[in-house]
Amino acid sequence: MDRRRFLRVAAALAPWAAAGAAAQTKARVVVVGGGYGGATVARYLKLWAPATEVTLVERESAFVSCPLSNLVIGGHASLDDVTRGYGGLAKAGVRIIADSATAIDASRKAVRLARGPELAYDRLVVSPGIDFLFSAMPNYEAAARAGRVLHAWKAGAETVALRKQLEALRDGAVYVLSIPLAPYRCPPGPYERACQVASYFKKAKPRSKVLVLDANEDITSKAALFRKAWAELYPGLIEYRSNSMAVDVDGPSKTVKLELDDVKGDVLNVIPPHRASQLAADAGLITHNDRWCNVDWRTMESTAVPGVHVLGDATLSAPAMAKAGHMANQQAKVCAAAIIEMLAGRAPNPRPVFASTCYSFVSATEAIHVASVHQWNEQEKTVTIVPGSNGVSAARSEQEARYAWAWARNTWADMLGG
Ligand SMILES: Cc1cc2nc3c(=O)[nH]c(=O)nc-3n(C[C@H](O)[C@H](O)[C@H](O)COP(=O)(O)OP(=O)(O)OC[C@H]3O[C@@H](n4cnc5c(N)ncnc54)[C@H](O)[C@@H]3O)c2cc1C
Repeated sequence: MDRRRFLRVAAALAPWAAAGAAAQTKARVVVVGGGYGGATVARYLKLWAPATEVTLVERESAFVSCPLSNLVIGGHASLDDVTRGYGGLAKAGVRIIADSATAIDASRKAVRLARGPELAYDRLVVSPGIDFLFSAMPNYEAAARAGRVLHAWKAGAETVALRKQLEALRDGAVYVLSIPLAPYRCPPGPYERACQVASYFKKAKPRSKVLVLDANEDITSKAALFRKAWAELYPGLIEYRSNSMAVDVDGPSKTVKLELDDVKGDVLNVIPPHRASQLAADAGLITHNDRWCNVDWRTMESTAVPGVHVLGDATLSAPAMAKAGHMANQQAKVCAAAIIEMLAGRAPNPRPVFASTCYSFVSATEAIHVASVHQWNEQEKTVTIVPGSNGVSAARSEQEARYAWAWARNTWADMLGG
């Protein structure tokens, strides 16, 4: 080929070469888990960097919110009220794959799926939530299979099953709620649940009892507000025992085994201790106590596996940071912004901020909240509470209940799109 012809061919090929390079540089982010953390990061990556190829892998066909699911147990909302589809995310340009991620191969930057083909990524985000440490209670799984114990700590079928068990109870029965040692997801969630079951008993089965067996020394969140609600709204209906850790259950006799005592009930709602999900464990993301995944809070990138970011309940929480949906949603935004900067070769925000408000319904119509703001602290090399930013409601109120529903609807729209 003479020099002139070579230059003509090269010029003709140039646009294709450029297009090829662009196709290769279009960043691919895969997100595993479409809950509070995963759905939010997927949506915000698309909002802030529309050219990014964002793929969300979620095994469930719809999002069911844990926040507000205690109202379903109290009979004050339906599962449909706390369920939303993934259509808004698809409309926003997120590719949604209804499948289970079974393994992460970080050296090849690939995610394996149960049914579909492997997914390659430039950055991976996992927000898979929790799994339960059933090994802490050897007979739990057999009792659960026989329908003798429920946790209802992942909203969905168990939430509805627990409600049905309560409806089937005779007046004068005992509902036992067992709370694991902190950290567990949603510190105030169990005490809210005690209120919800008591509100149902007060109306429908007033001789029945809510027995709370708490492995912790005291109520772990909004303690004074919960105690006041129990005393004023449900006198004689709720019995609270601290330092009462469940070590096993016996399904046939409907018994919760404590370290020194056995407690029988008619409905057993035992929440086992948890850890980051199995996927995180298998991928080598767990760094702490065989339970939680440490991250760099400025990027949410795993400290153990480069290129993989971890969000939400699976993380080793920073001091005074609760495992909460609102917190997962905030972590997701920090993560989306950091990924966009990193992919562009720029430095992420060095001092990100995380804010969280968590509402609890103490009856059908009244709620309370706890709120806090957290920020990266360069001296402590972690995230700490911004001084003066945290606090709880002055009193329970109907106004707070309206805010709680507004918080939920706004957050679902924020993470899932309209
Ligand atoms: C009863 C209750 C009440 C609560 N109330 C509040 C509240 O009022 N306010 C608040 O802020 N927080 C509340 N929480 C806590 C909140 O639900 C969690 O903190 C939040 O859901 C954590 O988000 P996440 O993204 O880490 O996990 P999740 O929201 O649990 O999402 C994990 C997702 O990953 C999917 N998944 C997991 N593994 C795989 C896999 N291998 N492949 C594909 N998909 C997978 C799951 O199906 C799930 O959809 C409550 C929790 C409970 C149980």
